[in-house]
Amino acid sequence: MNLLIMGPPGSGKGTQSKLVVEKYGLVHISTGDIFRKAIKEKSELGHLAKSYIEKGEYVPDDIVCEVIEDRLAEDDCKNGFLLDGFPRTIYQAVKLEQMLEKLNKKIDHVLKIDVDPYVLVKRRAGRRVCSNCGSSYHLEFKPPVTKGACDKCGHAIVQRADDTEETAFKRLDIYLKSTYPLVEYYDAKELLRNIHGFGTIERVFFRINRELEKYDNH
Ligand code: AMP
Repeated sequence: MNLLIMGPPGSGKGTQSKLVVEKYGLVHISTGDIFRKAIKEKSELGHLAKSYIEKGEYVPDDIVCEVIEDRLAEDDCKNGFLLDGFPRTIYQAVKLEQMLEKLNKKIDHVLKIDVDPYVLVKRRAGRRVCSNCGSSYHLEFKPPVTKGACDKCGHAIVQRADDTEETAFKRLDIYLKSTYPLVEYYDAKELLRNIHGFGTIERVFFRINRELEKYDNH
């Protein structure tokens, strides 16, 4: 099974992605994670991506597509993958289709996490990540056991540079303009699965499973 997950910034798609890949044995391909790793490693890709990400802007299509093309060709994608954060523009979606065609693969479902903008703002403001291992937390919905420290490795949990209020609004605006058209694109292909994104992490995950099972039986 090859999946794609989309939702506005702060919709919880990263958290849900981790649960989905674990349950269905898929490879998690997150462009955001790839860029953050590259920035940490100070690679050429990291240097390129950093300036865009910190401003809350999209990394140029050609750079993102090249990263994904290389990743999809890797052996571990054979048994299924979940794309998280890609495609984000129609251009990327068309390119993805061409890449998959070459690899004799296709997307089976597009999970779209629907959430209320008010909940989004709250979620964004409380979001924290571990500075060392990248585990994600939320001050309100998923706090660490020890305040300010990662449950897994004990390092400090921090707010991502692109999680400030100003960039949050900018990202939401860009999402609505550039990424929202993808909803129509995938709806026309009958791949869109709408998931209500309110409620607990477990509740949203339950809805994802229910949706996938529904299609599995037909
Ligand atoms: P994410 O963790 O998915 O929210 O991604 C963090 C940041 O990485 C985004 O705000 C963009 O600046 C950049 N990024 C990630 N994926 C893409 C993409 N498919 N196209 C353009 N920029 C991206």
